[in-house]
Parts: sequence; C-alpha cells; structure tokens
Amino acid sequence: MIEAIQLYQRYNEHNSFILNDLNFVINRGEFVFVVGPSGAGKSTLLKLLIREILPTRGTLKVFGQDLTRMPRRRVPYLRRNIGMVFQDFRLLEERTAYDNIAFVMQVTGAPAGEIRRRVPQVLEMVGLSEKIWDRVCDLSGGEQQRIGLARAIINRPAMIIADEPTGNLDPVTSLEIMNLLRGINIRGTTVVVATHDREIVDRFRKRVIYLEDGRIAGDEQKGVYVRAI
Ligand code: ADP
Repeated sequence: MIEAIQLYQRYNEHNSFILNDLNFVINRGEFVFVVGPSGAGKSTLLKLLIREILPTRGTLKVFGQDLTRMPRRRVPYLRRNIGMVFQDFRLLEERTAYDNIAFVMQVTGAPAGEIRRRVPQVLEMVGLSEKIWDRVCDLSGGEQQRIGLARAIINRPAMIIADEPTGNLDPVTSLEIMNLLRGINIRGTTVVVATHDREIVDRFRKRVIYLEDGRIAGDEQKGVYVRAI
C-alpha cells in the first residue's frame, strides 16, 4: 500500500534534511501509528503521502504507484482513494453535518440521489444520525471529529491518513474517535495515524513507527508510545 525507499525530504537546499533516508512498507489493511517529538517530520511524511509535496530524493510508492513519477492529472485520483482526518477538523463551520459530507460527494461528481442516500448512512456509521441537520459550530469537538471521519470515508477510500486526530479532544472522546477508526480499519481500510496521544497508542498496541530527527528510530508491531530500546 505504501513503500518508501531511501526517502529524503528537505524544504530548501540550504537546510538539512527533514526526512532522512526513510525505508518502510505499510501493507494493505494495516493500522499504523507514527509517533515522535514535535518537528520530527510526521506531518511532512503525511504530506508526501498525499503528494502535497514531492520528495527531494528517493522513491515513495502509494497504491503501487511511484509518486515522484505520477503525472499531475493523476493526483486527484490518488487523493480520492485517501481519506484525510485533521486535528482541527477543517469543516464548514456554518453548514450542517449533512452539507459537510454532501459537499465532498458533489465535488467528486456523485449523483444527487446517491448523495441523499449515502450521507445519512455514513453519519449513522459514526453515530451522528441525530445531529444530521445541526450546524457544525453548534456541535462538540468529538461530534465535529465524527463528521471529519464521515467525510474521510464517504468515498470508500482504500486508506485513511489522520494527522493528530485526537489533538483537540478529551481522553474519553479521543478513545471514541479512535475506536471508530479501528472499526473502519477492521472493515479493510488501511489507517495511518500521526499522534502525540500516548494513552491511545499504549492502549491500542498497533504497529508504531518512531520518527526522530527525520529518521526512523524504531518500528514495532504491537508497540507502545515510548520505544523500548
Ligand atoms: P512534526 O509533524 O513531527 O511536528 P513537521 O513535519 O511538521 O514535524 O516538521 C518537521 C520539520 O520541518 C520542522 O523543523 C519544521 O520546522 C520543518 N518544516 C515543516 N514545514 C516546513 C515548510 N513548509 N518549510 C520549511 N520548513 C518546514
């Protein structure tokens, strides 16, 4: 699903490398945490995965395709297969839960009938049926992130990439959101989560990739937040 080979990234040639010789594979159906101190390069790695930026050097394959060689016109297709979840939700605040999801479907050209059918369905999957006509700004942080998840899965992506999805939530709500992500993963979607949420990582015991100063300092199955060695 993802393969990085001698992957390097720097933002300009006067600076040192932000990502330094990353080599890893993430297989279909995996659930992976990316952890590490602020500035370690987690967000940069996620940006590379959705081809928001191009690697300075090396190979990065997503869905078997080398992103460094991918023509620009293929990028929307790549992104349609990746659901993104953000720390700050990035929703249309003044609009309803329904509108926020419908909007994503409209952008990808879905027929009106399918939008009307599918939006309530996906809001039910994240436990938000009752708030479908509420405006986002009237909802709690946890509810807003549920909409964020619904938006991420609406186009049935093969992979979800979440950047600090619980960064603005209390521990109980964080766990609810992560349990939803786990459910999505169990149904077959690959999930990659960059996080500082120690409690969640320790509780889930999934694969953990440790980034430190732009290098992979560890990569453990059933890992915990603080690396053993
Ligand atoms: P993390 O997500 O682990 O906190 P980031 O990937 O955001 O780390 O940042 C890694 C390093 O790259 C930091 O030193 C940051 O200042 C630098 N950086 C991030 N984005 C840019 C940019 N657009 N231009 C220059 N430097 C950047």
